[in-house]
Amino acid sequence: MIHIKKPAEIEEMKVAGALSKMALRRVGAAIRPGVLTSELDGIAESVIRMHRAIPTFKGYGGFPASICCSVNDEVVHGIPGARLLEEGDIVSIDTGATIGGWVGDNAWTFYCGTPSREAVELCEVTCDCLKAGIAKAVPGNHVGDIGAAVQELAERHGFGVLRDYVGHGVGHVMHEDPSVPNYGKRGRGPKLQAGMVIAIEPMITLGDYEVEVQGNGWTVNTVDHSLAAHYENTIAITKDGPVILTTDDEGPWCSMQGGV
Ligand code: MG
Repeated sequence: MIHIKKPAEIEEMKVAGALSKMALRRVGAAIRPGVLTSELDGIAESVIRMHRAIPTFKGYGGFPASICCSVNDEVVHGIPGARLLEEGDIVSIDTGATIGGWVGDNAWTFYCGTPSREAVELCEVTCDCLKAGIAKAVPGNHVGDIGAAVQELAERHGFGVLRDYVGHGVGHVMHEDPSVPNYGKRGRGPKLQAGMVIAIEPMITLGDYEVEVQGNGWTVNTVDHSLAAHYENTIAITKDGPVILTTDDEGPWCSMQGGV
């Protein structure tokens, strides 16, 4: 069932969205070679708790941390821990904050040091896929319009579009209806209407889109070990067009470059 939010509820959701973005930005600023991924987790958790909010991911389905930290061939749901970031890594960070009973969910792939040229192309195209998807998030369109826009742009560059993981509705809980795939056909799927809030989150690979879950039960990596990127914002569909809820004082976008 798709929950339609009232305008006042969407305003409330901006608080969770802003905090989620702030945590993401702080983590990005700390990304540099030699940093432990567990340190990044601590930064996000303290930013979120400092604002008397709850790190949405911690304990969600048993997930053990406040962020997902997925490095290189890891696409999503990486568990932060004893891994040291290395020069040239690309690091996908996903943060979620719950406050006032609402969830904000967003993700960004950062460069650790200087990335390869192919990593830069992958990240820039994946971020453009997110923007292309958001542009389709208007009343009267269908969920398939979002997926088609993301898929067409990614595949034009020869990149893979994950099938096994998709975007989702967001509200009082992190995962609501509808599912928002990054592939699809125009005019298909549930019709979008004002008051729907969805996380649009392209997960794009340099090679094949097949993925597998590691032995820890969480971390998802590409089977061919090609690089992957992941950009996400939480969007409200309104009569005036898409409104990005995961926006802080600096806006809805982060620097691609970690450590700044
Ligand atoms: Mg999400």
